[in-house]
Amino acid sequence: MQRRTLLSAGLIGLSRKSWAAVPATFADQSHLLGHRLRDRAAFPISRRVERVPVLIVGGGIAGLSAAWRLQKRGFRDFVLLEMEQEAGGNSRSGENEISRYPWAAHYLPVPSKSATLVRELMSELGVLAGGKWDERYLCHSPQERLFLHGRWQDGLEPDAPSPREREQAKRFHARMDEFEDSGEFAIPSATGRRTRSDLDRITMTEWLKHEGFDSEALHWHADYACRDDYGARASQTSAWAGIHYFAARGQRDDKGPLTWPEGNGWIVRKLLERVGKHVHTGTFVHRIGRAGTRWRVFAGEVEYQAEAVIFAAPAHLSAYLIEGAPPVDIVYSPWLTANLTLDRWPDQGATHYAWDNVIHRSPALGYVVATHQSLRTQIPKTVWTYYWALCDQTPAEARRLLLEKDAAYWSEAILRDLEPAHEEIRQFVSRIEIMRFGHAMARPVTGHLSRRIRDLEGLYFAHSDLSGYSIFEEAQYRGVEAAERAIRRLR
Ligand SMILES: Cc1cc2nc3c(=O)[nH]c(=O)nc-3n(C[C@H](O)[C@H](O)[C@H](O)COP(=O)(O)OP(=O)(O)OC[C@H]3O[C@@H](n4cnc5c(N)ncnc54)[C@H](O)[C@@H]3O)c2cc1C
Repeated sequence: MQRRTLLSAGLIGLSRKSWAAVPATFADQSHLLGHRLRDRAAFPISRRVERVPVLIVGGGIAGLSAAWRLQKRGFRDFVLLEMEQEAGGNSRSGENEISRYPWAAHYLPVPSKSATLVRELMSELGVLAGGKWDERYLCHSPQERLFLHGRWQDGLEPDAPSPREREQAKRFHARMDEFEDSGEFAIPSATGRRTRSDLDRITMTEWLKHEGFDSEALHWHADYACRDDYGARASQTSAWAGIHYFAARGQRDDKGPLTWPEGNGWIVRKLLERVGKHVHTGTFVHRIGRAGTRWRVFAGEVEYQAEAVIFAAPAHLSAYLIEGAPPVDIVYSPWLTANLTLDRWPDQGATHYAWDNVIHRSPALGYVVATHQSLRTQIPKTVWTYYWALCDQTPAEARRLLLEKDAAYWSEAILRDLEPAHEEIRQFVSRIEIMRFGHAMARPVTGHLSRRIRDLEGLYFAHSDLSGYSIFEEAQYRGVEAAERAIRRLR
């Protein structure tokens, strides 16, 4: 807690004089368009009309999965509009002279038997063949490590120092196994029983205390899990969602996760190989209205007229974009990620690094190593993707900070955060590229289970926001489900 407070305070008062410059740039600009929507700015007048049976807004995993499903069901006449220059949304990736790297989503847990859609896609992509997972994509060892008390330990669960803490860790995992067996928590979450609304009325921290868990190590681990998956502290996350992290993924005896140098950007690439011809990038949808039974979708100089619209952009945009759509009550977690290019490895040499490297008590979530899956014996240079869920301020304050501060400020904050574990990190990093996500993902706060986002006639919501939290499996499921509803309408 103390280091976190210090870093947050230090962040506000960083003095420029003390900064050893590592070139840093922002890799994002899309908030400028988003803010034009918010401010109800004028957009170009449309000059031509195009008719299309199905139109998909947003090319993240949900939108691409809707396209994947439409195509598999024999529909060819659809268009997907994506505002960014590249599709993928939170699963986008980048590449430099050293490696491909993720910008955000970087892994997929090995799907359990009930995650049928994920297994279907992975079979199609050759990741799952003859019941076996391709070893190239299962995360190599060592997978995770934690910097605690001045040294790295294996795994992310802090070694519990006392017998009392060890007993609590054991009891906690036994409770999670019970929850897993109950069928309450499933992925996709809509397929679970979802009867424990009592767990959605208290926070994860409150649940831990109520169950008599006071181990500091256990509280840290639960808090880390909530920051990792939801961009929120355990005290800001509903107990239902906190438990879901541990009890939904059928991981008890499984290996994994599945990962690639560019993270889930690999899946995006493979989906684009299939549906890319339908995707129009750099195309920002700025208004959606009705014309009788059709929908009018305005983007650039084109007015599209569609019989069915699949809205796979973040749900909070619906109130700004769609005529007649009610405001959506979702709290969004702001995030920052950064890709650090390293000309050499600090201290330990490539072999000692895990894929995921986390620093205990840091306000951030550490970094994943993009070259980890490489089979080369010599990897002199590398790229680290650094993750930071900004949850020590209100989301609005964090978004203001993201916009106000320049890239040099954030790069300094990142380097200072890494220094306890890598004292001379500045000597190894040649540049830092930063991505800001003001509304990165829906935060499953208490009460999120009762939230409903209802389709309009002929307009189907598809974003992972519908699940109340954001992971690949939910985005894919929501996209596929929306595609099915659109198909039913057309028929
Ligand atoms: C930092 C971070 C790390 C993550 N790590 C993981 C991980 O390791 N594993 C995992 O499973 N999940 C991870 N996630 C969750 C990730 O959000 C989901 O896996 C998934 O990518 C969400 O897909 P989506 O389609 O629902 O949403 P989004 O990715 O938000 O896609 C929405 C798309 O709509 C587009 N759009 C928005 N407005 C418009 C408009 N007006 N016109 C046209 N297009 C528009 C956007 O540009 C975007 O491409 C992470 C998320 C973040 C932020």
